Amino acid sequence: MNKPAETFSLLPLWIGGGKVASQSARFGEVTNPATGEVIRRVPFANSADIGAAVAAAKLAFPAWSETPPLKRARIMMRYLQFLEKNREQLARLASEEHGKTLSDAAGSLQRGIEVVEFACGIPHLLKGEHAENVGAGVDCYSLKQPLGVCAGITPFNFPVMVPLWMFPVAIACGNTFVLKPSEKVPSASLRMAELFKEAGLPDGVFNVVQGDKEAVDAILHHPDIKAVSFVGSTPVAKYIYETCAKNGKRVQALGGAKNHAVVLPDADLEFTADALIGAAYGSAGERCMAISAVVAVGEAAEPLVAKLRDKAARLKVGPGHIEEVEMGPLVTRAHRDRVKGYIDLGEKEGAQLVLDGRGLKVSGHENGFYLGPSLFDHVTPQMAIYRDEIFGPVLVLLRARDFDEAIKLVNRNPHANGTAVFTRSGALARRFQHEIEVGMVGINVPIPVPMAFFSFGGWKNSLFGDLHVHGPEGVKFYTRTKTITGRWPEQTEKPWDPLINPRTNATTTERDE
Ligand code: NAD
Repeated sequence: MNKPAETFSLLPLWIGGGKVASQSARFGEVTNPATGEVIRRVPFANSADIGAAVAAAKLAFPAWSETPPLKRARIMMRYLQFLEKNREQLARLASEEHGKTLSDAAGSLQRGIEVVEFACGIPHLLKGEHAENVGAGVDCYSLKQPLGVCAGITPFNFPVMVPLWMFPVAIACGNTFVLKPSEKVPSASLRMAELFKEAGLPDGVFNVVQGDKEAVDAILHHPDIKAVSFVGSTPVAKYIYETCAKNGKRVQALGGAKNHAVVLPDADLEFTADALIGAAYGSAGERCMAISAVVAVGEAAEPLVAKLRDKAARLKVGPGHIEEVEMGPLVTRAHRDRVKGYIDLGEKEGAQLVLDGRGLKVSGHENGFYLGPSLFDHVTPQMAIYRDEIFGPVLVLLRARDFDEAIKLVNRNPHANGTAVFTRSGALARRFQHEIEVGMVGINVPIPVPMAFFSFGGWKNSLFGDLHVHGPEGVKFYTRTKTITGRWPEQTEKPWDPLINPRTNATTTERDE
């Protein structure tokens, strides 16, 4: 049994509409990346905790799934207001544990809130299809019904937005939900759960567990969990996909990325460089849609490298809560050191380091996990700094002779989350959108994240599964289709009376006597 959490210094779990303490003895430390200090502890839930959360969600499912979609939507509308009222607090929590700037945190919160706006339209989105007279007097129609208990497992880089990609849609569809956020950024999810309760969500419909692989494995093997949505790195995404498939669960597992921007010589290079600086170094490069590789075509290369170097060198790096700061620290010391290791490696591999972020010191915050922006030129597809997802403020530039070579290079990469082309030619942009084998494409837009009413997802190693998140594909993922074929023949005999027992011809009341 989970005990009330008040007496514990650890963060709680959120199960059955309230805070409870984990039954596990294992925990991790949450740091503020701007200062390097431990700010709270997070429990690593065990299978008993996951069992309790799933039991609460299972208990809540019958009543919630029978609640009319219109009533579910009204709770979503109230939730929207609560999220809006608490914008600043949620953005601060995300920035404090992740390190990103407050404006960046607020921007990603807005994209999450838009998914709740989308979910408010659920009565319309759940309408099925109907075909009259598929045979003589026969009609055929389909229903979209919820699955049961669904689970979400999310990464550190969007503590608010990525959970919001999942649970509002799942819950609006009539499912109940267990969320396991990243153990590096655990607090925002707990606050979102509290706000959902205040908005009128019945207890047990939304639950939050904290933890690491042990909690994830308990989710993947729990027989009462019907569907799993995952966002994180490619190796873990593949593992989640394979394990869920083995266990007969519906799964969508979004993985890592290496997003290319192809810059053609006719592009407005000033505009392009500004766009690329934000896309490469915003959120310290810790975005799944960050541009981490630039493919400069022909004579675009020289002037582009010069502009990128000058602009990146001017970026203000520091604690995310300070207004003029443009780039915050990396999420943990270990991750900062890993990214630094890639800069060392790039030099060894023979790439030209035109801007080196390794020496950066942020005065007054010497223990923070900072790294300045770095830029490599003359990178080749064989180098590890190109092949691997670095997930930090390191931009690599490759040179292509022509447009065809650039397209081939992008299409050879096993990651295929997002990409962008910069050009003034409509014809070339149209060829790019047609030929490029990537899930989300920008045309003079560096980070082409689809709006909430479209669906988000990559191809190849960036997504294992069939359906993308939120938007229409999200509704498909969180519902199953039932198709009914029916006829109502004209009654020629006396209508059947349900109170008459067909075998004895006695009324039910007579038989019971
Ligand atoms: P991660 O894969 O390390 O962790 C993601 C989640 O999986 C966390 O909740 C974590 O606790 C859990 N986890 C970690 N290791 C596990 C294991 N061995 N077994 C089971 N569960 C495990 O990812 P991260 O470092 O938190 O996030 C960064 C990654 O997420 C990057 O690769 C980034 O590209 C990716 N990402 C992708 C998208 C997308 O939409 N495709 C969006 C955001 C982030």
